Amino acid sequence: MLSLNRQAPRQAIALISDHADPAADVGMEEAGGQNVYVRNVGETLAALGWQVDMFTRKVHSDDPVIVQHSPYCRTIRLKAGAEEYIPRDRLFDHMPEFVASFKSFQTAQGLNYPLVHTNYWLSAWAGMELQKTSGIQLVHTYHSLAVVKYQSLRDIPPSAHNRLRIEHEILEKANCIVATSPQEQETLRSLVSTAGQIEVIPCGTDTDNFCLISKAHARARLNLDRQEKVILYVGRFDPRKGIETLVRVVALLKQQNVQNLKLIIVGGSSANMPDGEERERIENIVNELGLQSLTVFAGRVGHDILPLYYAAADVCVIPSHYEPFGLVAIEAMACGAPVVASNVGGLKYTVIPEETGLLVEPRDIEAFARGIQRILTDELWVRKMRKQASINVYQRFSWTGVTMQLHELYRHILARSIMHEQDWSYKMPSINKSA
Ligand code: UDP
Repeated sequence: MLSLNRQAPRQAIALISDHADPAADVGMEEAGGQNVYVRNVGETLAALGWQVDMFTRKVHSDDPVIVQHSPYCRTIRLKAGAEEYIPRDRLFDHMPEFVASFKSFQTAQGLNYPLVHTNYWLSAWAGMELQKTSGIQLVHTYHSLAVVKYQSLRDIPPSAHNRLRIEHEILEKANCIVATSPQEQETLRSLVSTAGQIEVIPCGTDTDNFCLISKAHARARLNLDRQEKVILYVGRFDPRKGIETLVRVVALLKQQNVQNLKLIIVGGSSANMPDGEERERIENIVNELGLQSLTVFAGRVGHDILPLYYAAADVCVIPSHYEPFGLVAIEAMACGAPVVASNVGGLKYTVIPEETGLLVEPRDIEAFARGIQRILTDELWVRKMRKQASINVYQRFSWTGVTMQLHELYRHILARSIMHEQDWSYKMPSINKSA
Protein backbone atom coordinates (compact mmCIF):
# COMPACT_ATOMS: atom_id res chain seq x y z
CA MET A 1 0.00 0.00 0.00
CA LEU A 2 1.29 3.50 -0.82
CA SER A 3 2.19 5.66 2.11
CA LEU A 4 0.38 8.97 1.95
CA ASN A 5 3.26 10.58 3.82
CA ARG A 6 5.81 9.63 1.19
CA GLN A 7 7.92 12.65 0.23
CA ALA A 8 7.74 13.80 -3.39
CA PRO A 9 10.97 12.93 -5.25
CA ARG A 10 13.33 15.85 -5.68
CA GLN A 11 13.40 17.54 -9.03
CA ALA A 12 16.88 17.30 -10.54
CA ILE A 13 18.26 20.43 -12.21
CA ALA A 14 21.63 21.15 -13.78
CA LEU A 15 23.75 24.26 -13.39
CA ILE A 16 26.48 24.53 -16.03
CA SER A 17 29.58 26.62 -15.34
CA ASP A 18 32.16 25.67 -18.00
CA HIS A 19 35.40 27.21 -16.63
CA ALA A 20 34.34 28.33 -13.14
CA ASP A 21 34.50 25.24 -10.94
CA PRO A 22 32.07 25.63 -7.98
CA ALA A 23 34.32 23.37 -5.89
CA ALA A 24 37.54 25.34 -6.59
CA ASP A 25 39.42 27.67 -4.24
CA VAL A 26 38.33 31.16 -5.13
CA GLY A 27 40.57 34.19 -5.65
CA MET A 28 43.25 32.54 -7.80
CA GLU A 29 43.75 32.11 -11.54
CA GLU A 30 40.34 32.60 -13.12
CA ALA A 31 38.33 31.55 -10.06
CA GLY A 32 36.20 34.42 -8.82
CA GLY A 33 32.63 35.60 -8.57
CA GLN A 34 31.11 33.04 -10.95
CA ASN A 35 32.46 30.14 -8.89
CA VAL A 36 31.04 31.70 -5.73
CA TYR A 37 27.68 32.38 -7.39
CA VAL A 38 27.17 28.88 -8.78
CA ARG A 39 28.29 27.17 -5.58
CA ASN A 40 26.06 29.26 -3.31
CA VAL A 41 23.05 29.17 -5.59
CA GLY A 42 23.47 25.39 -5.94
CA GLU A 43 23.77 24.73 -2.23
CA THR A 44 20.86 27.03 -1.35
CA LEU A 45 18.64 25.52 -4.06
CA ALA A 46 19.37 22.08 -2.63
CA ALA A 47 18.33 23.36 0.80
CA LEU A 48 15.09 24.54 -0.83
CA GLY A 49 14.32 21.01 -2.06
CA TRP A 50 15.96 20.59 -5.50
CA GLN A 51 18.53 17.99 -6.48
CA VAL A 52 21.33 20.11 -7.90
CA ASP A 53 24.10 18.90 -10.20
CA MET A 54 26.70 21.55 -11.07
CA PHE A 55 28.79 20.79 -14.16
CA THR A 56 32.20 22.22 -14.93
CA ARG A 57 35.28 21.31 -16.99
CA LYS A 58 37.84 19.03 -15.40
CA VAL A 59 41.07 21.03 -15.20
CA HIS A 60 43.42 18.89 -13.08
CA SER A 61 43.90 15.14 -13.57
CA ASP A 62 44.15 14.53 -9.82
CA ASP A 63 40.87 16.34 -9.01
CA PRO A 64 37.95 14.03 -8.20
CA VAL A 65 35.25 13.79 -10.88
CA ILE A 66 32.47 14.27 -8.34
CA VAL A 67 32.54 16.51 -5.28
CA GLN A 68 29.55 16.06 -2.98
CA HIS A 69 28.86 19.37 -1.19
CA SER A 70 25.72 18.27 0.63
CA PRO A 71 23.33 15.31 0.23
CA TYR A 72 21.57 16.89 -2.77
CA CYS A 73 24.22 19.13 -4.24
CA ARG A 74 27.36 18.08 -6.08
CA THR A 75 29.94 19.33 -8.57
CA ILE A 76 30.61 17.08 -11.56
CA ARG A 77 33.78 17.64 -13.56
CA LEU A 78 33.45 16.70 -17.22
CA LYS A 79 36.14 15.80 -19.71
CA ALA A 80 36.53 18.57 -22.31
CA GLY A 81 40.04 18.91 -23.71
CA ALA A 82 43.28 18.14 -21.90
CA GLU A 83 43.08 17.99 -18.11
CA GLU A 84 45.09 21.13 -17.63
CA TYR A 85 44.44 24.86 -17.36
CA ILE A 86 43.17 26.27 -20.66
CA PRO A 87 42.40 30.01 -20.79
CA ARG A 88 38.69 30.59 -21.33
CA ASP A 89 39.41 32.40 -24.60
CA ARG A 90 40.54 29.05 -25.98
CA LEU A 91 37.81 26.83 -24.53
CA PHE A 92 35.20 27.14 -27.26
CA ASP A 93 36.77 24.37 -29.37
CA HIS A 94 36.34 21.97 -26.43
CA MET A 95 32.68 22.68 -25.79
CA PRO A 96 31.34 19.95 -28.18
CA GLU A 97 33.25 17.41 -26.06
CA PHE A 98 31.80 19.04 -22.92
CA VAL A 99 28.26 18.54 -24.27
CA ALA A 100 29.03 14.92 -25.23
CA SER A 101 30.42 14.25 -21.74
CA PHE A 102 27.32 15.86 -20.18
CA LYS A 103 25.04 13.59 -22.21
CA SER A 104 27.08 10.46 -21.37
CA PHE A 105 26.95 11.31 -17.66
CA GLN A 106 23.20 11.85 -17.83
CA THR A 107 22.67 8.51 -19.57
CA ALA A 108 25.02 6.60 -17.27
CA GLN A 109 23.29 7.99 -14.18
CA GLY A 110 19.77 7.60 -15.62
CA LEU A 111 19.14 11.28 -14.93
CA ASN A 112 17.00 13.78 -16.71
CA TYR A 113 17.28 17.51 -16.16
CA PRO A 114 14.16 19.33 -17.30
CA LEU A 115 15.79 22.66 -16.45
CA VAL A 116 19.36 23.73 -17.15
CA HIS A 117 20.79 27.03 -15.85
CA THR A 118 23.89 28.02 -17.78
CA ASN A 119 26.55 30.51 -16.68
CA TYR A 120 28.87 32.46 -19.05
CA TRP A 121 28.73 32.38 -22.85
CA LEU A 122 30.55 29.06 -23.31
CA SER A 123 27.96 27.31 -21.15
CA ALA A 124 25.23 29.17 -23.05
CA TRP A 125 26.43 27.46 -26.21
CA ALA A 126 26.31 24.08 -24.44
CA GLY A 127 22.80 24.84 -23.19
CA MET A 128 21.59 25.73 -26.66
CA GLU A 129 23.08 22.49 -28.04
CA LEU A 130 21.19 20.51 -25.37
CA GLN A 131 18.04 22.47 -26.18
CA LYS A 132 18.24 21.22 -29.80
CA THR A 133 18.02 17.56 -28.82
CA SER A 134 15.90 17.58 -25.67
CA GLY A 135 13.01 19.57 -24.29
CA ILE A 136 15.00 21.32 -21.57
CA GLN A 137 13.98 24.69 -20.19
CA LEU A 138 16.98 26.99 -20.44
CA VAL A 139 17.88 29.77 -17.99
CA HIS A 140 21.04 31.80 -18.45
CA THR A 141 23.20 34.21 -16.42
CA TYR A 142 25.89 36.07 -18.41
CA HIS A 143 28.34 37.03 -15.59
CA SER A 144 30.18 39.13 -18.15
CA LEU A 145 29.03 40.74 -21.39
CA ALA A 146 31.33 41.00 -24.39
CA VAL A 147 29.70 44.14 -25.80
CA VAL A 148 30.65 46.01 -22.62
CA LYS A 149 33.85 44.21 -21.71
CA TYR A 150 35.48 44.79 -25.10
CA GLN A 151 34.91 48.55 -24.75
CA SER A 152 37.43 48.58 -21.91
CA LEU A 153 39.96 46.18 -23.49
CA ARG A 154 42.85 47.03 -25.75
CA ASP A 155 43.34 43.48 -27.06
CA ILE A 156 40.18 41.81 -28.32
CA PRO A 157 40.61 38.01 -28.21
CA PRO A 158 40.07 35.86 -31.32
CA SER A 159 37.00 34.28 -29.65
CA ALA A 160 35.21 37.67 -29.74
CA HIS A 161 33.16 36.94 -32.87
CA ASN A 162 31.72 33.66 -31.53
CA ARG A 163 31.13 35.18 -28.13
CA LEU A 164 29.17 38.18 -29.43
CA ARG A 165 27.06 35.88 -31.64
CA ILE A 166 26.29 33.43 -28.82
CA GLU A 167 25.51 36.17 -26.28
CA HIS A 168 22.97 37.49 -28.77
CA GLU A 169 21.49 34.05 -29.56
CA ILE A 170 21.06 32.99 -25.95
CA LEU A 171 19.05 36.11 -25.13
CA GLU A 172 16.57 35.21 -27.84
CA LYS A 173 16.53 31.43 -27.31
CA ALA A 174 16.66 30.90 -23.54
CA ASN A 175 13.38 30.59 -21.64
CA CYS A 176 14.68 33.30 -19.36
CA ILE A 177 17.81 35.39 -18.82
CA VAL A 178 18.74 36.24 -15.26
CA ALA A 179 20.30 39.72 -15.30
CA THR A 180 22.06 40.47 -12.03
CA SER A 181 21.25 44.19 -12.04
CA PRO A 182 18.84 46.56 -13.77
CA GLN A 183 21.94 48.06 -15.44
CA GLU A 184 22.71 44.70 -17.06
CA GLN A 185 19.12 44.38 -18.21
CA GLU A 186 19.28 47.82 -19.82
CA THR A 187 22.56 46.98 -21.55
CA LEU A 188 21.12 43.74 -22.89
CA ARG A 189 18.13 45.59 -24.28
CA SER A 190 20.05 48.47 -25.79
CA LEU A 191 23.15 46.65 -27.07
CA VAL A 192 22.20 42.99 -27.57
CA SER A 193 18.53 42.40 -28.46
CA THR A 194 15.03 43.60 -27.71
CA ALA A 195 13.74 40.01 -27.97
CA GLY A 196 13.78 37.39 -25.18
CA GLN A 197 12.67 37.30 -21.55
CA ILE A 198 14.80 38.91 -18.83
CA GLU A 199 14.30 38.86 -15.06
CA VAL A 200 16.53 40.83 -12.67
CA ILE A 201 17.76 38.69 -9.80
CA PRO A 202 21.00 39.93 -8.20
CA CYS A 203 23.99 37.95 -6.95
CA GLY A 204 24.11 37.47 -3.21
CA THR A 205 26.38 36.92 -0.28
CA ASP A 206 26.40 34.82 2.86
CA THR A 207 25.23 37.38 5.41
CA ASP A 208 25.91 34.99 8.29
CA ASN A 209 29.59 34.96 7.33
CA PHE A 210 29.98 38.48 5.95
CA CYS A 211 28.54 40.55 8.78
CA LEU A 212 29.47 43.39 11.14
CA ILE A 213 32.57 42.58 13.21
CA SER A 214 34.35 45.07 15.45
CA LYS A 215 37.26 46.77 13.72
CA ALA A 216 39.46 46.52 16.82
CA HIS A 217 38.85 42.75 17.04
CA ALA A 218 39.58 42.26 13.33
CA ARG A 219 42.80 44.28 13.53
CA ALA A 220 43.96 42.33 16.57
CA ARG A 221 43.27 39.01 14.82
CA LEU A 222 45.20 40.12 11.73
CA ASN A 223 48.02 41.75 13.69
CA LEU A 224 47.32 45.13 12.20
CA ASP A 225 48.22 48.37 13.93
CA ARG A 226 45.19 50.33 15.18
CA GLN A 227 46.67 53.62 13.94
CA GLU A 228 47.16 52.53 10.36
CA LYS A 229 44.84 53.73 7.61
CA VAL A 230 44.05 50.46 5.88
CA ILE A 231 43.07 50.61 2.22
CA LEU A 232 41.92 47.22 1.00
CA TYR A 233 41.63 45.57 -2.41
CA VAL A 234 40.13 42.08 -2.72
CA GLY A 235 39.95 40.19 -6.00
CA ARG A 236 41.70 38.48 -8.83
CA PHE A 237 44.77 39.86 -10.61
CA ASP A 238 43.26 40.86 -13.92
CA PRO A 239 43.96 44.10 -15.81
CA ARG A 240 40.24 44.93 -15.95
CA LYS A 241 40.16 45.05 -12.14
CA GLY A 242 42.13 48.32 -12.21
CA ILE A 243 44.60 47.48 -9.42
CA GLU A 244 47.11 49.79 -11.10
CA THR A 245 44.71 52.72 -10.56
CA LEU A 246 44.54 51.92 -6.85
CA VAL A 247 48.32 51.71 -6.49
CA ARG A 248 48.66 55.11 -8.17
CA VAL A 249 45.95 56.50 -5.88
CA VAL A 250 47.91 55.37 -2.83
CA ALA A 251 51.04 57.01 -4.25
CA LEU A 252 49.10 60.25 -4.64
CA LEU A 253 47.77 60.06 -1.05
CA LYS A 254 51.32 59.54 0.18
CA GLN A 255 52.44 62.55 -1.84
CA GLN A 256 49.64 64.53 -0.20
CA ASN A 257 51.18 63.64 3.17
CA VAL A 258 48.50 61.26 4.40
CA GLN A 259 50.23 59.47 7.28
CA ASN A 260 50.18 55.79 8.34
CA LEU A 261 48.88 54.45 5.04
CA LYS A 262 48.69 50.71 4.47
CA LEU A 263 47.59 49.10 1.22
CA ILE A 264 46.51 45.48 1.52
CA ILE A 265 46.00 43.57 -1.73
CA VAL A 266 44.16 40.29 -1.20
CA GLY A 267 43.94 37.65 -3.94
CA GLY A 268 46.11 35.94 -6.51
CA SER A 269 47.88 32.65 -6.92
CA SER A 270 51.39 31.68 -6.06
CA ALA A 271 54.10 32.23 -8.68
CA ASN A 272 53.92 30.71 -12.19
CA MET A 273 50.15 30.65 -12.33
CA PRO A 274 48.18 32.26 -15.16
CA ASP A 275 47.40 35.44 -13.19
CA GLY A 276 51.11 35.85 -12.37
CA GLU A 277 51.78 38.28 -15.21
CA GLU A 278 49.38 40.90 -13.84
CA ARG A 279 50.63 40.36 -10.31
CA GLU A 280 54.21 40.92 -11.44
CA ARG A 281 53.18 44.06 -13.33
CA ILE A 282 51.47 45.43 -10.22
CA GLU A 283 54.44 44.56 -7.99
CA ASN A 284 56.72 46.44 -10.39
CA ILE A 285 54.51 49.54 -10.21
CA VAL A 286 54.48 49.33 -6.40
CA ASN A 287 58.28 49.22 -6.45
CA GLU A 288 58.64 52.01 -9.01
CA LEU A 289 56.44 54.27 -6.87
CA GLY A 290 58.36 53.41 -3.71
CA LEU A 291 55.35 51.90 -1.95
CA GLN A 292 56.91 48.56 -0.91
CA SER A 293 57.02 49.36 2.78
CA LEU A 294 53.35 50.22 3.00
CA THR A 295 52.01 47.53 0.66
CA VAL A 296 51.12 43.97 1.64
CA PHE A 297 50.36 41.28 -0.92
CA ALA A 298 48.30 38.95 1.25
CA GLY A 299 47.74 36.29 -1.45
CA ARG A 300 44.55 34.29 -1.66
CA VAL A 301 42.38 34.44 1.48
CA GLY A 302 39.43 32.08 2.04
CA HIS A 303 35.92 33.20 2.93
CA ASP A 304 36.51 32.02 6.50
CA ILE A 305 39.10 34.77 7.13
CA LEU A 306 38.05 37.35 4.56
CA PRO A 307 35.38 39.02 6.80
CA LEU A 308 38.22 40.03 9.14
CA TYR A 309 40.01 41.85 6.33
CA TYR A 310 36.87 43.76 5.37
CA ALA A 311 36.12 44.62 9.00
CA ALA A 312 39.70 45.75 9.61
CA ALA A 313 39.73 48.06 6.59
CA ASP A 314 39.11 51.79 6.71
CA VAL A 315 38.03 51.63 3.13
CA CYS A 316 37.65 48.91 0.50
CA VAL A 317 38.42 50.11 -3.02
CA ILE A 318 36.96 48.49 -6.15
CA PRO A 319 38.70 50.28 -9.02
CA SER A 320 37.42 48.00 -11.86
CA HIS A 321 37.27 49.32 -15.42
CA TYR A 322 34.32 46.98 -15.93
CA GLU A 323 32.39 45.03 -13.29
CA PRO A 324 29.33 42.97 -14.26
CA PHE A 325 28.19 42.66 -10.63
CA GLY A 326 31.08 42.76 -8.14
CA LEU A 327 30.60 40.40 -5.20
CA VAL A 328 33.45 42.06 -3.34
CA ALA A 329 31.39 45.25 -2.99
CA ILE A 330 28.52 43.51 -1.22
CA GLU A 331 30.85 41.40 0.93
CA ALA A 332 32.72 44.53 2.05
CA MET A 333 29.53 46.47 2.76
CA ALA A 334 28.03 43.52 4.65
CA CYS A 335 31.05 43.71 6.97
CA GLY A 336 30.57 47.46 7.34
CA ALA A 337 33.54 48.54 5.20
CA PRO A 338 32.87 51.78 3.35
CA VAL A 339 33.43 51.25 -0.35
CA VAL A 340 34.94 53.52 -2.98
CA ALA A 341 34.10 51.90 -6.29
CA SER A 342 34.13 52.64 -9.99
CA ASN A 343 30.87 53.96 -11.31
CA VAL A 344 30.38 51.00 -13.65
CA GLY A 345 28.09 47.98 -14.18
CA GLY A 346 26.65 46.26 -11.12
CA LEU A 347 28.54 48.58 -8.75
CA LYS A 348 26.08 51.33 -9.73
CA TYR A 349 23.33 49.07 -8.42
CA THR A 350 24.90 47.78 -5.22
CA VAL A 351 26.66 50.89 -3.88
CA ILE A 352 24.41 53.75 -2.75
CA PRO A 353 26.52 56.93 -3.06
CA GLU A 354 27.03 58.80 0.24
CA GLU A 355 25.01 56.16 2.15
CA THR A 356 26.99 52.93 1.75
CA GLY A 357 30.03 54.20 -0.13
CA LEU A 358 31.14 56.38 -3.01
CA LEU A 359 31.15 55.94 -6.78
CA VAL A 360 33.80 57.61 -8.91
CA GLU A 361 34.73 57.41 -12.57
CA PRO A 362 36.99 54.44 -13.40
CA ARG A 363 40.72 55.25 -13.87
CA ASP A 364 40.23 58.71 -12.26
CA ILE A 365 43.13 58.72 -9.79
CA GLU A 366 42.34 62.14 -8.29
CA ALA A 367 38.67 61.28 -7.78
CA PHE A 368 39.52 57.99 -6.02
CA ALA A 369 42.02 59.81 -3.81
CA ARG A 370 39.44 62.49 -2.90
CA GLY A 371 36.84 59.81 -2.05
CA ILE A 372 39.28 57.87 0.13
CA GLN A 373 40.41 61.07 1.89
CA ARG A 374 36.81 61.96 2.74
CA ILE A 375 36.29 58.52 4.27
CA LEU A 376 39.57 58.62 6.19
CA THR A 377 38.75 61.97 7.76
CA ASP A 378 35.00 61.93 8.54
CA GLU A 379 34.58 59.47 11.40
CA LEU A 380 30.96 60.24 12.20
CA TRP A 381 29.79 59.80 8.63
CA VAL A 382 31.77 56.55 8.35
CA ARG A 383 30.19 55.14 11.49
CA LYS A 384 26.74 55.77 10.05
CA MET A 385 27.80 54.37 6.70
CA ARG A 386 29.08 51.12 8.23
CA LYS A 387 25.64 50.37 9.65
CA GLN A 388 23.72 51.46 6.57
CA ALA A 389 25.96 49.41 4.28
CA SER A 390 25.50 46.27 6.30
CA ILE A 391 21.71 46.64 6.54
CA ASN A 392 21.48 47.37 2.82
CA VAL A 393 23.25 44.12 1.93
CA TYR A 394 21.26 42.11 4.42
CA GLN A 395 17.98 43.36 2.98
CA ARG A 396 18.80 43.16 -0.72
CA PHE A 397 21.54 40.59 -1.29
CA SER A 398 21.40 37.61 1.08
CA TRP A 399 21.84 34.26 -0.75
CA THR A 400 18.67 32.96 0.81
CA GLY A 401 16.57 35.83 -0.54
CA VAL A 402 18.27 35.79 -3.92
CA THR A 403 18.00 32.02 -4.37
CA MET A 404 14.36 32.09 -3.31
CA GLN A 405 13.73 34.29 -6.33
CA LEU A 406 15.52 31.78 -8.59
CA HIS A 407 13.53 28.96 -7.00
CA GLU A 408 10.25 30.73 -7.83
CA LEU A 409 11.43 31.47 -11.34
CA TYR A 410 12.37 27.81 -12.03
CA ARG A 411 9.04 26.60 -10.63
CA HIS A 412 7.16 28.95 -12.85
CA ILE A 413 9.14 28.02 -15.97
CA LEU A 414 8.67 24.29 -15.32
CA ALA A 415 4.96 24.68 -14.60
CA ARG A 416 4.54 26.70 -17.77
CA SER A 417 6.39 24.09 -19.82
CA ILE A 418 3.98 21.43 -18.56
CA MET A 419 0.91 23.54 -19.24
CA HIS A 420 2.25 24.75 -22.63
CA GLU A 421 1.28 28.28 -21.81
CA GLN A 422 2.07 30.66 -24.62
CA ASP A 423 2.17 33.99 -22.84
CA TRP A 424 4.64 35.00 -20.14
CA SER A 425 2.62 36.27 -17.22
CA TYR A 426 5.23 35.73 -14.52
CA LYS A 427 5.63 38.40 -11.89
CA MET A 428 8.66 38.18 -9.65
CA PRO A 429 7.74 37.75 -5.99
CA SER A 430 8.84 40.69 -3.88
CA ILE A 431 11.33 38.77 -1.71
CA ASN A 432 14.47 40.78 -0.99
CA LYS A 433 14.14 42.80 -4.15
CA SER A 434 15.92 46.08 -4.47
CA ALA A 435 14.62 48.83 -2.26
N1 UDP B 1 37.93 36.05 -3.35
C1 UDP B 1 38.33 35.18 -2.35
N2 UDP B 1 39.64 35.21 -1.96
C2 UDP B 1 40.54 36.03 -2.51
C3 UDP B 1 40.13 36.93 -3.53
C4 UDP B 1 38.81 36.90 -3.92
O1 UDP B 1 37.56 34.42 -1.81
O2 UDP B 1 41.70 35.99 -2.11
C5 UDP B 1 36.51 36.03 -3.75
C6 UDP B 1 35.75 37.24 -3.26
O3 UDP B 1 35.49 37.11 -1.88
C7 UDP B 1 34.52 37.21 -4.16
C8 UDP B 1 35.08 36.65 -5.47
O4 UDP B 1 36.35 36.07 -5.16
O5 UDP B 1 33.55 36.33 -3.61
C9 UDP B 1 35.28 37.73 -6.50
O6 UDP B 1 34.04 38.04 -7.07
P1 UDP B 1 33.76 39.40 -7.85
O7 UDP B 1 32.37 39.32 -8.37
O8 UDP B 1 34.07 40.58 -7.00
O9 UDP B 1 34.82 39.42 -9.04
P2 UDP B 1 35.12 38.38 -10.24
O10 UDP B 1 36.18 37.47 -9.76
O11 UDP B 1 33.84 37.67 -10.55
O12 UDP B 1 35.57 39.24 -11.35
